[in-house]
Amino acid sequence: MSGDEFSSFREETLKKNGIKNLENGIFYGTFIEPKAEDKYTSISPVDGHRNSEFTLADRTEYDNAVKYLEEVFEKWNEVTPPKRGDIIRAIGDSLSKNKSKLGALVSLEAGKTVAEGEGEIQEMIDIAYFASGLSRQLYGLTMTSERKEHRMMEIWNPIGTIGVISAFNFPSAVWSWNAFIAAVCGNTVLWKPSTKGGLVSIGVMKVISETLNELGSPQIFALVNGKGGEVGDWMAEDGRLKLISFTGSTATGKRVNEKVAKRLGRTILELGGNNCAIVSRHANMEIALKGVAFGALATTGQRCTSTRRVLVDEAIYDEFVKRLKNIYENIPVGNPRKDGILVGPLIDEQAVKKYNEALEVASAQGGKIIVHGKPIKIKGLENGFYVRPSLIEAKPEMEITKVETFAPILYVFKYRTIEEAISIHNSVPQGLSSSIFTENLREEEKFLSFAGSDCGIVNVNTSTAGAEIGGAFGGEKETGSGRESGSDAWKLYMRRQTVTVNYGKDIPLSQGVKFEV
Ligand code: NAD
Repeated sequence: MSGDEFSSFREETLKKNGIKNLENGIFYGTFIEPKAEDKYTSISPVDGHRNSEFTLADRTEYDNAVKYLEEVFEKWNEVTPPKRGDIIRAIGDSLSKNKSKLGALVSLEAGKTVAEGEGEIQEMIDIAYFASGLSRQLYGLTMTSERKEHRMMEIWNPIGTIGVISAFNFPSAVWSWNAFIAAVCGNTVLWKPSTKGGLVSIGVMKVISETLNELGSPQIFALVNGKGGEVGDWMAEDGRLKLISFTGSTATGKRVNEKVAKRLGRTILELGGNNCAIVSRHANMEIALKGVAFGALATTGQRCTSTRRVLVDEAIYDEFVKRLKNIYENIPVGNPRKDGILVGPLIDEQAVKKYNEALEVASAQGGKIIVHGKPIKIKGLENGFYVRPSLIEAKPEMEITKVETFAPILYVFKYRTIEEAISIHNSVPQGLSSSIFTENLREEEKFLSFAGSDCGIVNVNTSTAGAEIGGAFGGEKETGSGRESGSDAWKLYMRRQTVTVNYGKDIPLSQGVKFEV
């Protein structure tokens, strides 16, 4: 695909998604006509050229959106949970029909490959169907009571309007992990995407709002594109938003957490990762190589679950590193829409700068560069933000290896015993995803035990990247402690009420207290 071909792809993708030259970045009930006072120019990382512009919310529009959702909340709760599930399932069907054009929009705006762009939308479809099934399973417990002729049970009610702040690297999937589950629970959802993912949020909202209109459903989702430091801050401080689910860097997440905690609101925090894979002498080498390479290179190292560190058993170190080096030297980097390309661009110029700085710091701290990836120019896409990936032999005491650099840098360490490997593995502040490659039962079980991985996600013989929506997703330590998506994460979007019913003719008081009136 030449530069001209990519320009045609841009035009066609924007047209298919109904994205105008100046778009409305705000939706509540309907897209709000642009006042165009504050706008954002979307640039494609693929060729560094302009896609289009969209408007950003001011305080009045923000307040209107929250007010709108508070009113819709009442109507939405007149719909029974299984019916809500039907509506979310229909959204899944619409996303499925529009997967190719929305996937292309993800490629255009986030620089993802064809498979990863469509994969982003597939995750939305999957969670829609999951949420639909869940709508019939919002179960509570019943408990025995110590008092005669009393019954105890738990019931679950929605919490109200919630806020979701999302990151650029999963411009729509992570929002839907929260939004679709929250919606079947009976909540309404305000979405503030990353401005770097603004066009995807608009494209997705067009499809979803049209589906809701066709079904005669209330518009339960609102969109406020805006600056993080403004709209994000307003959301964190806004007591009307009962929960803030925040996905992004640890630094911003800490700030959001402080503000929400100050008003005793709830948070789900999905923050930075520094994920590690252990490759044991008992590993299947082919599986380990593929798992580590995919984990480190997919989405150009811009996944929260990207493999950033690999610990290799000294017995296989030389062979494993030699083969990994070969993969790094030959991996195709370029236009993500082109067949065979596995590594696309970084998101912007700033990301390239941070990549270069991290490589310099790693060298200064004693890292030995095995493969030195440098910024590269792709023919016809000279203004795109491309780098070749880097592989660095590192020591655990190097401070840079404890920091998340959102780019394709993989630090390689040598270890002697599994205990030493686990200790290095856990020696970083983050705790999102982890892997062990081994066919040895003892090693595997140790990694899964209290003395093993300290992360929220633990994998055996598969990559740190690529979580499935059926499991609860989230991390520990500085990754935050949120869980979203599968398993019983739905409980975070609901109020638990413990109910005691007395069906007797007397009122026996607890603790045997006698209270005569
Ligand atoms: P970021 O922290 O720069 O931005 C995330 C979101 O926060 C954006 O919508 C941004 O506009 C908003 N924001 C900025 N300032 C804010 C403020 N003061 N108050 C409230 N919101 C504000 O992150 P990013 O660069 O978009 O994404 C990359 C980061 O996200 C990485 O650290 C990655 O690991 C993390 N991430 C984590 C997960 C996870 O599930 N753990 C998933 C995806 C990304």
